[in-house]
Amino acid sequence: MSNRRVVIIGAGPAGYVAAIRASQLGARVTLIERDRVGGTCLNRGCIPTKALLSDAKLLRKLRHSSVFSPLLTEGFNPLTAMMQRKRKVVEELVKGVEMLLDSHRVALKKGRADLLGPGQVILMDGDGKQETLEADAVILGPGSKSKSLPNMRPDGKMIITSDEALELERIPREIVIIGGGYIGAEFATLYNGLGSQVTVVEVLDDLLPGLEGELVRHFRRSLEGSGVRVLTKSAVDEVSVKEEAVELTLKTPQGVQRISAEKVLLSVGRAPLLDLDFSKVGVVTSASGIQVNSRLETSAPSIYAIGDAVGGILLAHVASEQGILAAENAMGISRELEDHPIPLCIFTYPEMASIGLTEKEARSRGNVKIGRFPFRSNPTAIISGEPEGLVKVIASRETDEILGIHIIGSGATVLISIAASMMRARVTVKEFARYMQAHPTVPEALKEAALDVDGMAIHLPKPLRTDAKR
Ligand code: FAD
Repeated sequence: MSNRRVVIIGAGPAGYVAAIRASQLGARVTLIERDRVGGTCLNRGCIPTKALLSDAKLLRKLRHSSVFSPLLTEGFNPLTAMMQRKRKVVEELVKGVEMLLDSHRVALKKGRADLLGPGQVILMDGDGKQETLEADAVILGPGSKSKSLPNMRPDGKMIITSDEALELERIPREIVIIGGGYIGAEFATLYNGLGSQVTVVEVLDDLLPGLEGELVRHFRRSLEGSGVRVLTKSAVDEVSVKEEAVELTLKTPQGVQRISAEKVLLSVGRAPLLDLDFSKVGVVTSASGIQVNSRLETSAPSIYAIGDAVGGILLAHVASEQGILAAENAMGISRELEDHPIPLCIFTYPEMASIGLTEKEARSRGNVKIGRFPFRSNPTAIISGEPEGLVKVIASRETDEILGIHIIGSGATVLISIAASMMRARVTVKEFARYMQAHPTVPEALKEAALDVDGMAIHLPKPLRTDAKR
Protein backbone atom coordinates (compact mmCIF):
# COMPACT_ATOMS: atom_id res chain seq x y z
CA MET A 1 0.00 0.00 0.00
CA SER A 2 2.92 2.35 0.39
CA ASN A 3 3.42 4.98 -2.32
CA ARG A 4 -0.33 5.33 -2.73
CA ARG A 5 -1.31 8.83 -3.84
CA VAL A 6 -3.64 10.32 -1.25
CA VAL A 7 -5.18 13.74 -1.92
CA ILE A 8 -6.84 15.52 1.00
CA ILE A 9 -9.14 18.55 0.69
CA GLY A 10 -9.07 20.88 3.71
CA ALA A 11 -6.25 21.33 6.22
CA GLY A 12 -8.32 21.66 9.39
CA PRO A 13 -7.78 19.32 12.37
CA ALA A 14 -9.44 16.56 10.32
CA GLY A 15 -7.46 17.00 7.10
CA TYR A 16 -3.99 17.86 8.36
CA VAL A 17 -4.04 15.00 10.90
CA ALA A 18 -5.18 12.61 8.13
CA ALA A 19 -2.29 13.89 5.99
CA ILE A 20 0.31 13.18 8.67
CA ARG A 21 -1.12 9.71 9.42
CA ALA A 22 -1.27 8.76 5.71
CA SER A 23 2.32 9.93 5.29
CA GLN A 24 3.43 7.88 8.33
CA LEU A 25 1.93 4.86 6.54
CA GLY A 26 3.94 5.51 3.39
CA ALA A 27 1.51 7.49 1.24
CA ARG A 28 2.49 10.28 -1.14
CA VAL A 29 0.20 12.93 0.29
CA THR A 30 -1.08 16.17 -1.23
CA LEU A 31 -3.03 18.42 1.13
CA ILE A 32 -5.06 21.26 -0.39
CA GLU A 33 -6.12 24.29 1.62
CA ARG A 34 -7.72 27.48 0.32
CA ASP A 35 -7.05 29.48 3.47
CA ARG A 36 -4.62 28.78 6.30
CA VAL A 37 -3.63 25.39 7.70
CA GLY A 38 -5.33 24.53 10.98
CA GLY A 39 -8.81 25.33 9.64
CA THR A 40 -11.56 26.79 11.78
CA CYS A 41 -10.15 25.31 14.97
CA LEU A 42 -6.77 26.95 14.81
CA ASN A 43 -7.64 30.20 13.04
CA ARG A 44 -11.21 31.05 14.06
CA GLY A 45 -12.32 28.53 16.67
CA CYS A 46 -10.82 26.51 19.51
CA ILE A 47 -7.45 28.24 19.73
CA PRO A 48 -8.24 31.98 19.44
CA THR A 49 -11.27 31.66 21.73
CA LYS A 50 -9.24 29.87 24.37
CA ALA A 51 -6.35 32.36 24.11
CA LEU A 52 -8.81 35.21 24.81
CA LEU A 53 -10.65 33.25 27.50
CA SER A 54 -7.40 32.40 29.22
CA ASP A 55 -6.61 36.13 29.56
CA ALA A 56 -10.20 36.89 30.59
CA LYS A 57 -9.87 34.28 33.31
CA LEU A 58 -6.64 35.83 34.53
CA LEU A 59 -8.30 39.24 34.58
CA ARG A 60 -11.18 37.86 36.58
CA LYS A 61 -8.78 36.25 39.04
CA LEU A 62 -6.91 39.53 39.47
CA ARG A 63 -10.15 41.43 40.03
CA HIS A 64 -11.25 38.95 42.68
CA SER A 65 -7.85 38.61 44.31
CA SER A 66 -7.49 40.32 47.67
CA VAL A 67 -3.73 40.41 46.95
CA PHE A 68 -3.58 41.69 43.36
CA SER A 69 -6.85 43.61 42.72
CA PRO A 70 -5.29 46.94 43.88
CA LEU A 71 -2.93 46.70 40.86
CA LEU A 72 -5.83 47.13 38.43
CA THR A 73 -6.38 50.77 37.58
CA GLU A 74 -9.78 52.33 36.90
CA GLY A 75 -10.75 51.94 33.22
CA PHE A 76 -8.07 49.30 32.53
CA ASN A 77 -8.76 47.98 29.00
CA PRO A 78 -6.77 44.93 27.96
CA LEU A 79 -8.63 44.14 24.70
CA THR A 80 -5.96 45.34 22.25
CA ALA A 81 -3.18 43.48 24.06
CA MET A 82 -5.37 40.37 24.35
CA MET A 83 -6.09 40.42 20.61
CA GLN A 84 -2.38 40.82 19.84
CA ARG A 85 -1.46 37.90 22.07
CA LYS A 86 -4.22 35.78 20.53
CA ARG A 87 -2.83 36.52 17.03
CA LYS A 88 0.66 35.51 18.18
CA VAL A 89 -0.64 32.23 19.63
CA VAL A 90 -2.47 31.43 16.39
CA GLU A 91 0.58 32.38 14.24
CA GLU A 92 2.85 30.18 16.31
CA LEU A 93 0.55 27.18 16.07
CA VAL A 94 -0.11 27.65 12.32
CA LYS A 95 3.65 27.70 11.74
CA GLY A 96 3.95 24.60 13.93
CA VAL A 97 1.45 22.69 11.78
CA GLU A 98 3.18 23.84 8.56
CA MET A 99 6.49 22.63 9.96
CA LEU A 100 4.96 19.27 10.91
CA LEU A 101 3.48 18.81 7.44
CA ASP A 102 6.79 19.71 5.87
CA SER A 103 8.71 17.28 8.09
CA HIS A 104 6.29 14.50 7.06
CA ARG A 105 6.85 15.42 3.39
CA VAL A 106 3.21 16.32 2.88
CA ALA A 107 2.88 18.46 -0.27
CA LEU A 108 0.78 21.43 0.88
CA LYS A 109 -0.92 23.19 -2.02
CA LYS A 110 -2.76 26.48 -1.64
CA GLY A 111 -6.00 26.98 -3.54
CA ARG A 112 -9.55 25.79 -3.89
CA ALA A 113 -10.00 22.12 -4.67
CA ASP A 114 -12.94 20.33 -6.24
CA LEU A 115 -13.85 16.85 -7.34
CA LEU A 116 -13.33 16.25 -11.06
CA GLY A 117 -14.02 12.56 -11.54
CA PRO A 118 -13.10 9.19 -10.01
CA GLY A 119 -9.55 9.52 -8.66
CA GLN A 120 -9.22 13.10 -9.88
CA VAL A 121 -9.14 16.36 -7.98
CA ILE A 122 -8.83 19.78 -9.54
CA LEU A 123 -6.91 22.55 -7.84
CA MET A 124 -7.57 26.21 -8.64
CA ASP A 125 -5.11 28.68 -7.23
CA GLY A 126 -5.80 32.38 -6.65
CA ASP A 127 -4.31 33.35 -10.03
CA GLY A 128 -6.80 31.30 -12.03
CA LYS A 129 -4.34 28.48 -12.71
CA GLN A 130 -5.70 24.96 -12.62
CA GLU A 131 -3.99 21.67 -11.90
CA THR A 132 -5.42 18.17 -12.06
CA LEU A 133 -4.23 15.75 -9.40
CA GLU A 134 -4.52 11.99 -9.79
CA ALA A 135 -5.28 10.07 -6.60
CA ASP A 136 -5.62 6.47 -5.44
CA ALA A 137 -7.68 7.77 -2.50
CA VAL A 138 -9.31 11.12 -1.77
CA ILE A 139 -10.18 12.34 1.74
CA LEU A 140 -12.68 15.19 2.08
CA GLY A 141 -12.37 17.46 5.12
CA PRO A 142 -13.91 20.79 4.07
CA GLY A 143 -15.34 21.59 7.51
CA SER A 144 -18.37 23.69 8.39
CA LYS A 145 -19.82 27.21 8.36
CA SER A 146 -21.84 29.32 10.80
CA LYS A 147 -25.61 28.99 10.50
CA SER A 148 -27.81 32.06 10.35
CA LEU A 149 -31.49 32.73 11.02
CA PRO A 150 -34.06 33.43 8.29
CA ASN A 151 -34.79 36.90 9.74
CA MET A 152 -31.21 37.73 10.67
CA ARG A 153 -28.14 37.57 8.44
CA PRO A 154 -24.73 38.65 9.71
CA ASP A 155 -23.39 41.89 8.19
CA GLY A 156 -19.98 41.47 9.82
CA LYS A 157 -20.26 44.85 11.57
CA MET A 158 -23.21 45.01 13.92
CA ILE A 159 -24.64 41.54 13.43
CA ILE A 160 -21.58 39.35 13.68
CA THR A 161 -20.54 35.69 13.82
CA SER A 162 -17.84 34.14 15.99
CA ASP A 163 -15.29 35.09 13.28
CA GLU A 164 -15.79 38.84 13.91
CA ALA A 165 -16.33 38.39 17.66
CA LEU A 166 -12.70 37.23 17.74
CA GLU A 167 -11.49 40.42 16.07
CA LEU A 168 -13.34 43.24 17.87
CA GLU A 169 -11.27 46.37 18.34
CA ARG A 170 -13.45 47.86 21.06
CA ILE A 171 -15.23 46.25 23.97
CA PRO A 172 -18.92 46.61 23.04
CA ARG A 173 -21.08 48.46 25.56
CA GLU A 174 -23.77 45.84 25.04
CA ILE A 175 -23.68 42.55 23.19
CA VAL A 176 -26.64 40.25 22.61
CA ILE A 177 -25.68 36.66 21.94
CA ILE A 178 -28.30 34.74 19.99
CA GLY A 179 -27.84 31.06 20.86
CA GLY A 180 -26.84 29.61 24.21
CA GLY A 181 -24.79 26.64 23.00
CA TYR A 182 -21.17 26.21 24.06
CA ILE A 183 -19.80 28.83 21.63
CA GLY A 184 -22.37 31.41 22.78
CA ALA A 185 -21.66 30.55 26.42
CA GLU A 186 -17.90 31.00 25.95
CA PHE A 187 -18.38 34.42 24.31
CA ALA A 188 -20.78 35.40 27.14
CA THR A 189 -18.00 34.61 29.63
CA LEU A 190 -15.45 36.51 27.55
CA TYR A 191 -17.36 39.75 27.00
CA ASN A 192 -18.87 39.72 30.49
CA GLY A 193 -15.32 39.45 31.86
CA LEU A 194 -14.31 42.44 29.73
CA GLY A 195 -17.16 44.56 31.07
CA SER A 196 -19.83 44.43 28.31
CA GLN A 197 -23.48 44.19 29.26
CA VAL A 198 -24.21 40.71 27.91
CA THR A 199 -27.62 39.21 27.10
CA VAL A 200 -27.95 35.60 25.94
CA VAL A 201 -31.12 34.68 24.02
CA GLU A 202 -31.89 30.97 23.69
CA VAL A 203 -34.98 29.56 22.02
CA LEU A 204 -34.91 26.26 23.96
CA ASP A 205 -35.80 25.66 27.62
CA ASP A 206 -32.28 26.26 28.85
CA LEU A 207 -28.69 27.04 27.90
CA LEU A 208 -26.34 24.32 26.64
CA PRO A 209 -28.92 21.82 25.36
CA GLY A 210 -27.92 18.20 25.94
CA LEU A 211 -25.50 18.96 28.78
CA GLU A 212 -26.06 17.48 32.27
CA GLY A 213 -28.88 19.55 33.83
CA GLU A 214 -27.08 20.10 37.15
CA LEU A 215 -24.13 21.71 35.34
CA VAL A 216 -26.44 23.90 33.29
CA ARG A 217 -28.32 25.14 36.39
CA HIS A 218 -25.06 25.82 38.20
CA PHE A 219 -23.54 27.64 35.23
CA ARG A 220 -26.66 29.74 34.63
CA ARG A 221 -26.72 30.83 38.30
CA SER A 222 -23.06 31.79 38.08
CA LEU A 223 -23.49 33.64 34.76
CA GLU A 224 -26.50 35.58 36.04
CA GLY A 225 -24.63 36.26 39.26
CA SER A 226 -21.92 37.93 37.14
CA GLY A 227 -24.52 40.23 35.60
CA VAL A 228 -25.33 38.38 32.34
CA ARG A 229 -29.00 38.49 31.38
CA VAL A 230 -30.23 35.06 30.20
CA LEU A 231 -33.50 34.84 28.26
CA THR A 232 -34.54 31.26 27.56
CA LYS A 233 -37.59 30.04 25.61
CA SER A 234 -37.12 33.30 23.74
CA ALA A 235 -36.91 33.98 20.04
CA VAL A 236 -35.98 36.94 17.87
CA ASP A 237 -39.09 38.24 16.14
CA GLU A 238 -37.85 41.43 14.48
CA VAL A 239 -34.48 42.97 13.82
CA SER A 240 -33.76 46.55 12.93
CA VAL A 241 -30.23 47.79 12.31
CA LYS A 242 -29.84 51.47 13.26
CA GLU A 243 -26.74 53.64 12.96
CA GLU A 244 -25.54 53.11 16.52
CA ALA A 245 -27.28 49.92 17.59
CA VAL A 246 -29.27 46.88 16.58
CA GLU A 247 -32.83 46.82 17.91
CA LEU A 248 -34.35 43.44 18.58
CA THR A 249 -37.92 42.49 19.31
CA LEU A 250 -38.01 39.25 21.25
CA LYS A 251 -40.86 36.89 22.01
CA THR A 252 -40.27 35.69 25.57
CA PRO A 253 -42.44 33.76 28.07
CA GLN A 254 -42.99 37.12 29.80
CA GLY A 255 -44.28 38.70 26.57
CA VAL A 256 -42.69 40.85 23.89
CA GLN A 257 -39.40 42.50 24.93
CA ARG A 258 -37.42 45.11 23.03
CA ILE A 259 -33.70 45.36 23.55
CA SER A 260 -30.96 47.18 21.73
CA ALA A 261 -27.24 46.48 21.59
CA GLU A 262 -24.09 47.73 19.94
CA LYS A 263 -23.34 44.20 18.69
CA VAL A 264 -25.43 41.10 18.08
CA LEU A 265 -23.50 37.85 17.93
CA LEU A 266 -25.27 35.17 15.96
CA SER A 267 -24.25 31.86 17.44
CA VAL A 268 -26.95 29.42 16.42
CA GLY A 269 -24.73 26.49 15.47
CA ARG A 270 -22.70 25.30 12.52
CA ALA A 271 -23.58 23.32 9.41
CA PRO A 272 -21.38 21.13 7.18
CA LEU A 273 -19.83 22.95 4.24
CA LEU A 274 -21.11 21.16 1.16
CA ASP A 275 -19.94 23.24 -1.77
CA LEU A 276 -17.89 20.59 -3.62
CA ASP A 277 -19.14 19.12 -6.90
CA PHE A 278 -20.20 15.81 -5.38
CA SER A 279 -22.29 14.83 -8.42
CA LYS A 280 -19.11 14.35 -10.51
CA VAL A 281 -18.13 11.32 -8.44
CA GLY A 282 -21.41 10.14 -6.91
CA VAL A 283 -20.81 11.19 -3.30
CA VAL A 284 -24.17 11.30 -1.50
CA THR A 285 -24.87 14.18 0.90
CA SER A 286 -27.79 15.34 3.03
CA ALA A 287 -28.47 18.49 5.07
CA SER A 288 -26.63 16.85 7.97
CA GLY A 289 -23.44 16.31 5.97
CA ILE A 290 -21.52 14.03 3.62
CA GLN A 291 -22.86 10.52 4.13
CA VAL A 292 -20.26 8.01 5.32
CA ASN A 293 -20.24 4.47 6.73
CA SER A 294 -18.44 3.33 9.88
CA ARG A 295 -15.15 3.21 7.91
CA LEU A 296 -15.73 6.84 6.86
CA GLU A 297 -16.14 5.76 3.24
CA THR A 298 -18.53 7.85 1.16
CA SER A 299 -20.84 6.29 -1.40
CA ALA A 300 -18.08 6.70 -4.02
CA PRO A 301 -15.19 4.20 -4.16
CA SER A 302 -11.91 5.31 -2.52
CA ILE A 303 -13.38 8.65 -1.38
CA TYR A 304 -13.53 9.20 2.39
CA ALA A 305 -15.00 12.11 4.36
CA ILE A 306 -14.10 13.37 7.83
CA GLY A 307 -14.64 16.08 10.43
CA ASP A 308 -17.40 18.69 10.61
CA ALA A 309 -18.36 17.95 6.99
CA VAL A 310 -19.83 14.57 7.97
CA GLY A 311 -22.02 16.13 10.69
CA GLY A 312 -22.67 14.53 14.07
CA ILE A 313 -20.58 16.00 16.86
CA LEU A 314 -18.70 19.03 15.51
CA LEU A 315 -15.57 19.04 17.66
CA ALA A 316 -11.91 19.23 16.73
CA HIS A 317 -10.82 16.07 18.59
CA VAL A 318 -13.60 14.10 16.88
CA ALA A 319 -12.45 15.48 13.51
CA SER A 320 -8.81 14.51 14.16
CA GLU A 321 -9.65 10.96 15.27
CA GLN A 322 -11.71 10.58 12.11
CA GLY A 323 -8.74 11.89 10.12
CA ILE A 324 -6.54 9.14 11.53
CA LEU A 325 -9.14 6.45 10.89
CA ALA A 326 -9.83 7.52 7.29
CA ALA A 327 -6.11 7.72 6.53
CA GLU A 328 -5.60 4.21 7.91
CA ASN A 329 -8.48 2.84 5.84
CA ALA A 330 -7.18 4.62 2.75
CA MET A 331 -3.85 2.90 3.39
CA GLY A 332 -5.34 -0.58 3.81
CA ILE A 333 -5.55 -0.82 7.62
CA SER A 334 -9.17 -1.75 8.09
CA ARG A 335 -10.73 0.14 11.00
CA GLU A 336 -14.24 1.13 12.03
CA LEU A 337 -15.47 3.96 14.22
CA GLU A 338 -15.83 2.82 17.83
CA ASP A 339 -18.71 3.81 20.04
CA HIS A 340 -16.78 5.36 22.94
CA PRO A 341 -18.09 8.32 24.91
CA ILE A 342 -16.70 11.63 23.67
CA PRO A 343 -15.41 14.25 26.11
CA LEU A 344 -16.76 17.79 25.79
CA CYS A 345 -15.03 20.79 27.35
CA ILE A 346 -16.56 24.26 27.71
CA PHE A 347 -14.10 27.00 28.65
CA THR A 348 -16.56 29.30 30.38
CA TYR A 349 -16.25 30.60 33.92
CA PRO A 350 -16.63 28.32 35.75
CA GLU A 351 -15.34 25.86 33.20
CA MET A 352 -17.28 22.69 32.45
CA ALA A 353 -16.54 19.25 31.09
CA SER A 354 -18.69 16.25 30.49
CA ILE A 355 -18.54 12.68 29.25
CA GLY A 356 -21.04 9.86 28.97
CA LEU A 357 -24.70 9.78 29.98
CA THR A 358 -26.48 12.59 31.80
CA GLU A 359 -28.42 11.66 34.94
CA LYS A 360 -31.70 11.81 33.00
CA GLU A 361 -30.38 9.55 30.22
CA ALA A 362 -28.85 7.09 32.69
CA ARG A 363 -32.06 6.86 34.77
CA SER A 364 -34.07 6.12 31.63
CA ARG A 365 -31.86 3.07 31.05
CA GLY A 366 -31.76 1.52 34.50
CA ASN A 367 -30.94 1.88 38.18
CA VAL A 368 -28.19 4.36 38.94
CA LYS A 369 -26.21 5.61 41.90
CA ILE A 370 -24.72 9.09 42.00
CA GLY A 371 -21.77 10.63 43.78
CA ARG A 372 -21.04 14.35 44.08
CA PHE A 373 -18.16 16.30 45.49
CA PRO A 374 -18.15 20.09 45.79
CA PHE A 375 -14.95 21.96 44.94
CA ARG A 376 -15.32 24.04 48.09
CA SER A 377 -14.15 20.90 49.93
CA ASN A 378 -11.06 20.52 47.72
CA PRO A 379 -7.91 22.30 49.00
CA THR A 380 -6.50 23.04 45.51
CA ALA A 381 -9.72 24.70 44.37
CA ILE A 382 -9.64 26.87 47.48
CA ILE A 383 -5.92 27.68 47.03
CA SER A 384 -6.53 28.76 43.42
CA GLY A 385 -9.47 30.93 44.47
CA GLU A 386 -12.00 28.86 42.51
CA PRO A 387 -14.12 27.01 45.06
CA GLU A 388 -17.27 27.06 42.88
CA GLY A 389 -18.71 23.91 41.33
CA LEU A 390 -18.73 20.18 41.74
CA VAL A 391 -17.84 16.78 40.30
CA LYS A 392 -20.74 14.42 39.62
CA VAL A 393 -20.22 10.71 38.94
CA ILE A 394 -23.07 8.52 37.67
CA ALA A 395 -22.69 4.74 37.92
CA SER A 396 -24.84 1.69 37.28
CA ARG A 397 -26.29 0.27 40.51
CA GLU A 398 -26.22 -3.25 39.00
CA THR A 399 -22.76 -3.37 37.43
CA ASP A 400 -20.85 -0.51 39.11
CA GLU A 401 -19.91 0.69 35.62
CA ILE A 402 -19.24 4.42 35.33
CA LEU A 403 -21.92 5.83 33.01
CA GLY A 404 -21.18 9.53 33.08
CA ILE A 405 -18.94 12.14 34.69
CA HIS A 406 -19.84 15.83 34.70
CA ILE A 407 -17.70 18.56 36.16
CA ILE A 408 -18.15 22.29 36.66
CA GLY A 409 -15.37 24.24 38.29
CA SER A 410 -11.65 24.30 38.83
CA GLY A 411 -9.68 22.17 36.36
CA ALA A 412 -12.80 20.55 34.84
CA THR A 413 -11.32 20.51 31.35
CA VAL A 414 -8.22 18.64 32.51
CA LEU A 415 -10.02 16.30 34.90
CA ILE A 416 -12.24 15.04 32.10
CA SER A 417 -9.24 13.30 30.51
CA ILE A 418 -8.89 11.10 33.59
CA ALA A 419 -12.63 10.41 33.40
CA ALA A 420 -12.39 9.56 29.67
CA SER A 421 -9.49 7.15 30.25
CA MET A 422 -11.32 5.40 33.10
CA MET A 423 -14.48 5.02 31.08
CA ARG A 424 -12.59 3.77 28.02
CA ALA A 425 -10.79 1.18 30.19
CA ARG A 426 -14.16 0.24 31.74
CA VAL A 427 -12.80 0.78 35.24
CA THR A 428 -15.63 0.35 37.77
CA VAL A 429 -16.42 3.14 40.17
CA LYS A 430 -15.20 1.05 43.14
CA GLU A 431 -11.87 0.36 41.43
CA PHE A 432 -11.38 4.02 40.57
CA ALA A 433 -12.15 5.06 44.13
CA ARG A 434 -9.12 2.98 45.19
CA TYR A 435 -6.68 4.80 42.85
CA MET A 436 -4.33 7.08 44.72
CA GLN A 437 -4.39 10.77 43.71
CA ALA A 438 -1.64 13.19 44.64
CA HIS A 439 -2.25 15.87 47.25
CA PRO A 440 -3.10 18.71 46.97
CA THR A 441 -4.63 18.43 43.48
CA VAL A 442 -8.07 18.68 41.86
CA PRO A 443 -8.11 14.97 40.88
CA GLU A 444 -8.72 14.33 44.58
CA ALA A 445 -12.20 15.81 44.00
CA LEU A 446 -12.81 13.23 41.28
CA LYS A 447 -11.78 10.40 43.59
CA GLU A 448 -14.00 11.78 46.38
CA ALA A 449 -16.98 11.97 43.99
CA ALA A 450 -16.31 8.33 43.02
CA LEU A 451 -16.21 7.40 46.73
CA ASP A 452 -19.45 9.32 47.33
CA VAL A 453 -21.21 7.06 44.82
CA ASP A 454 -21.31 4.48 47.65
CA GLY A 455 -21.54 7.10 50.40
CA MET A 456 -17.86 6.75 51.33
CA ALA A 457 -16.37 10.20 50.57
CA ILE A 458 -13.82 11.12 53.23
CA HIS A 459 -13.99 14.91 53.06
CA LEU A 460 -17.76 15.33 53.15
CA PRO A 461 -19.35 16.07 56.51
CA LYS A 462 -22.19 13.64 57.25
CA PRO A 463 -25.09 16.05 56.65
CA LEU A 464 -23.68 16.90 53.21
CA ARG A 465 -23.77 13.30 52.04
CA THR A 466 -26.04 12.77 49.13
CA ASP A 467 -27.37 9.30 50.18
CA ALA A 468 -30.94 10.61 50.23
CA LYS A 469 -30.76 11.31 46.51
CA ARG A 470 -29.64 7.83 45.60
P1 FAD B 1 -12.27 22.95 9.59
O1 FAD B 1 -11.46 23.20 10.78
O2 FAD B 1 -13.37 23.90 9.28
O3 FAD B 1 -11.27 22.87 8.36
C1 FAD B 1 -11.72 22.73 7.05
C2 FAD B 1 -10.72 23.39 6.12
O4 FAD B 1 -11.03 23.06 4.79
C3 FAD B 1 -10.74 24.92 6.21
O5 FAD B 1 -9.46 25.40 6.48
C4 FAD B 1 -11.22 25.36 4.82
O6 FAD B 1 -10.60 26.56 4.38
C5 FAD B 1 -10.78 24.18 3.96
N1 FAD B 1 -11.58 24.01 2.75
C6 FAD B 1 -12.93 23.92 2.66
N2 FAD B 1 -13.29 23.72 1.38
C7 FAD B 1 -12.15 23.71 0.64
C8 FAD B 1 -11.89 23.56 -0.74
N3 FAD B 1 -12.85 23.36 -1.63
N4 FAD B 1 -10.60 23.61 -1.15
C9 FAD B 1 -9.58 23.81 -0.27
N5 FAD B 1 -9.79 23.95 1.07
C10 FAD B 1 -11.06 23.90 1.52
N6 FAD B 1 -13.91 22.28 18.86
C11 FAD B 1 -13.33 21.72 19.93
O7 FAD B 1 -13.09 20.51 19.94
N7 FAD B 1 -12.97 22.46 21.02
C12 FAD B 1 -13.21 23.79 21.07
O8 FAD B 1 -12.89 24.43 22.08
C13 FAD B 1 -13.83 24.41 19.97
N8 FAD B 1 -14.07 25.74 19.97
C14 FAD B 1 -14.65 26.32 18.88
C15 FAD B 1 -14.91 27.68 18.91
C16 FAD B 1 -15.49 28.30 17.82
C17 FAD B 1 -15.76 29.79 17.86
C18 FAD B 1 -15.79 27.54 16.65
C19 FAD B 1 -16.41 28.20 15.44
C20 FAD B 1 -15.55 26.18 16.61
C21 FAD B 1 -14.98 25.56 17.73
N9 FAD B 1 -14.73 24.18 17.74
C22 FAD B 1 -14.16 23.61 18.84
C23 FAD B 1 -15.10 23.32 16.60
C24 FAD B 1 -13.88 23.02 15.73
O9 FAD B 1 -13.31 24.23 15.29
C25 FAD B 1 -14.28 22.16 14.55
O10 FAD B 1 -14.95 21.02 15.02
C26 FAD B 1 -13.07 21.72 13.76
O11 FAD B 1 -12.36 22.83 13.27
C27 FAD B 1 -13.48 20.83 12.58
O12 FAD B 1 -12.35 20.46 11.85
P2 FAD B 1 -12.45 20.15 10.29
O13 FAD B 1 -11.05 19.85 9.87
O14 FAD B 1 -13.51 19.17 10.04
O15 FAD B 1 -12.94 21.51 9.62
